[in-house]
Amino acid sequence: MPQLSVVTGGAGFLGSHLCDRLVAMGHHVVALDDLSSGHMSHVQQLASHPRFELRGHDVVQSWPLGLDGATRVFNLACLASPASYQRQPVQTTLTSAVGMWRVLEAAQHSGARVLQASTSEVYGDPEVHPQAETYHGLVNPIGPRSCYDEGKRVAEAMCFAYHRERKAPVRLVRIFNSYGPRLRPGDGRVVSNFIVQALRGQPLTIYGDGQQTRSFCYVDDTVEGILRMMEADIEGPINIGNPVEHTVLKLAEYVLRLTGSRSRLERRPLPPDDPKKRCPDISRAKHHLQWEPRVSLEDGLRETIAYFRSELANERLAA
Ligand code: UDP
Repeated sequence: MPQLSVVTGGAGFLGSHLCDRLVAMGHHVVALDDLSSGHMSHVQQLASHPRFELRGHDVVQSWPLGLDGATRVFNLACLASPASYQRQPVQTTLTSAVGMWRVLEAAQHSGARVLQASTSEVYGDPEVHPQAETYHGLVNPIGPRSCYDEGKRVAEAMCFAYHRERKAPVRLVRIFNSYGPRLRPGDGRVVSNFIVQALRGQPLTIYGDGQQTRSFCYVDDTVEGILRMMEADIEGPINIGNPVEHTVLKLAEYVLRLTGSRSRLERRPLPPDDPKKRCPDISRAKHHLQWEPRVSLEDGLRETIAYFRSELANERLAA
């Protein structure tokens, strides 16, 4: 019997890539997704596969029936783009907190191991750089990002509460700015915004002075880290991210060069509580998972740009 793995957010950007890998590894995969930011097209390649099933489901609601045989649950469901989660702060908080609770309760019944996709956002606007897992973060509990930051922090707390009190087998990864094909063109994150703007010949929108930094990790590397963590003998948390740090302005330069676009840069106000720096310390991932990213920003961006070129061409054909 193939192993049954459940992926919440399985039609999302990261979730769909994870489903691809799990099916290729021989798992039976059930993807749960309410399609709020995920999309059917992301799992279209798996739609007729006998070991894949997509079910419409919001993780805030009661856990679906028929998943008692699951041995692995990857909890990835959540809006992840600041622009979109700030439009739906209530649902975002509930998805992280109640969704985590539903997953942990269900997993108690089936005995499944749970991997929680946490985030670099738990470090908030960090005063420690780079961020190691021992850093407790600097988060504004009532700021516009708190629905996500604090929601994910509650989810982490709940994983460890279930682990301590009920011996639940949990795994925690903190994901840093993953990017790649299947980001949505209107998603609002910096990589998708810049690529779409460059390909359309529109100005690239630089928030603030563009000197804030992020560390972008290509999706294949992120998924590999997640898979290794699920099978590791450590609860975590473990940072999964690329330790090569870039300013937003540098990213804009890369995108302009790789797309050959002549778009100009346009300054916009910096959103409140936007972290000034973000870079993972990945010593733990190297040590416990023998994992580190392999894809350079340039190679990852080339793949992502090729994806967006074809998405935008399809949009034009459909229009
Ligand atoms: N950003 C930007 N222009 C955009 C979108 C984002 O300059 O069109 C900046 C944003 O202010 C932040 C960084 O890029 O400093 C990364 O933003 P993103 O929304 O991708 O995710 P975050 O890392 O903030 O969660």
